[in-house]
Amino acid sequence: MFESLSDRLGGVFDALKKRGSLKAGDVDAAMRDIRIALLEADVALPVVKDFIAKVKEEAVGEQVLKSVTPGQQVVKVVHDALVGLLQSDDQDLTLIGEPPHAILMVGLQGSGKTTSTAKIAKRLTEKDRKKVLMASLDVYRPAAQEQLKILGEQTGVATLPIVAGQMPVDIAKRAMNAGRLGGYDVVMLDTAGRLHVDEQLMAEVAAVRDAAKPRETLLVADSMTGQDAVTVAKSFEDRVGLTGIVLTRVDGDARGGAALSMRQVTGKPIKFLGTGEKMDGLEAFRADRVAGRILGMGDVVSLVEKAAETIEAEEAEKIARKMQKGEFDLDDMASQLKQMRKMGGLEGVMGLLPGVGKIKKQMAGANIDPKMMLRQEAIISSMTPQERRNPGVLHASRKRRVAAGSGTSVQDVNKLLKQHQMMAKMMKQVAKMGKKGKMPFGLG
Ligand code: GDP
Repeated sequence: MFESLSDRLGGVFDALKKRGSLKAGDVDAAMRDIRIALLEADVALPVVKDFIAKVKEEAVGEQVLKSVTPGQQVVKVVHDALVGLLQSDDQDLTLIGEPPHAILMVGLQGSGKTTSTAKIAKRLTEKDRKKVLMASLDVYRPAAQEQLKILGEQTGVATLPIVAGQMPVDIAKRAMNAGRLGGYDVVMLDTAGRLHVDEQLMAEVAAVRDAAKPRETLLVADSMTGQDAVTVAKSFEDRVGLTGIVLTRVDGDARGGAALSMRQVTGKPIKFLGTGEKMDGLEAFRADRVAGRILGMGDVVSLVEKAAETIEAEEAEKIARKMQKGEFDLDDMASQLKQMRKMGGLEGVMGLLPGVGKIKKQMAGANIDPKMMLRQEAIISSMTPQERRNPGVLHASRKRRVAAGSGTSVQDVNKLLKQHQMMAKMMKQVAKMGKKGKMPFGLG
């Protein structure tokens, strides 16, 4: 799905050739094309506007990593923004409390409601080991109840016996009752479809909702209908209230805008994607996967991520090389502090080394808290480059200046210098051992 959007975006970034940080002009040019691509993918205009504004803000000034092109870097920023937009905290079905849990399926006729009902029932049965009962409340289309029964037989999911002439609210009550008596975990209620949003049927769905008190009310919407699907979603949300969306026919959707608009305009999580007519054509919605598909640039995203990791690794290697020479100035200390803080403090770093359990325990007593590391970093960054390379020049007046600049005291500065001396001494020892072919911690 989403092919044409990926294709379009693919060509967008070639214009960006310069390295360095991303300039507003570069990003603007790229954003113009992204905007057109999104609009042509049938993403709603306000959604596009929001999205572009957000991405621009994030992209400008972003440092272009050494091993990727500016275009690739922008793709990563766009990707992350897409994920942010598509993602929701309640992505999964919430089936908590006393069973049976009702799941109310609503939507227009032909959206794939009955098919999705059976697909979700099958998934809950097989994957989540739930005992599921399905019931069709569609008393208007002659074959509707029969259709669900056949799907139930196909998937091995129980269906509520059909009672001719019974009205939707009564069927819902009977289904919930059967669910309770039969020890079912989930009761899925497939409501009648409609061609348009129509008040009478809306009122009926609302009455069913009141009778069944569903944990989830899922709107089934056809992604191929683009903006219409979004309008329908808004009406259902206003009239009945929704907890999530099932987007069907994404297997045939070349435009890809529906998922974005739907999520943004309704604020509801997309919970499932229908990816085919068969009963296994259902996917749990995962924002990063869909963002990757929209961009069609999964490789680029992981490339940029890897490049970012490499930079960190290069930094670590630089320190290691200096360590081998027995050099360790305050700049090195600052970058080590930064890395340590990122990796969850000294414990996080030590945890990566094999066979250091004992040392770790000894160090646990030392007061290494992230706040202190931040303070130490601040002290170092208040020094001049010369002072950092050669701390010996730091006499009383300079120390006072550094303390004032970092919002600390001269005592703090002294403490830091002492710690640096200790570390530098340790580094020298490490270097010596390295020369003799012995590494500390048995890492050699
Ligand atoms: P309802 O009227 O909303 O209950 O719609 P149905 O469940 O009867 O589905 C209408 C048609 O759409 C059927 O032919 C389904 O096989 C087809 N359909 C449903 N979901 C999907 C999907 O995700 N992908 C594709 N390609 N077809 C689907």
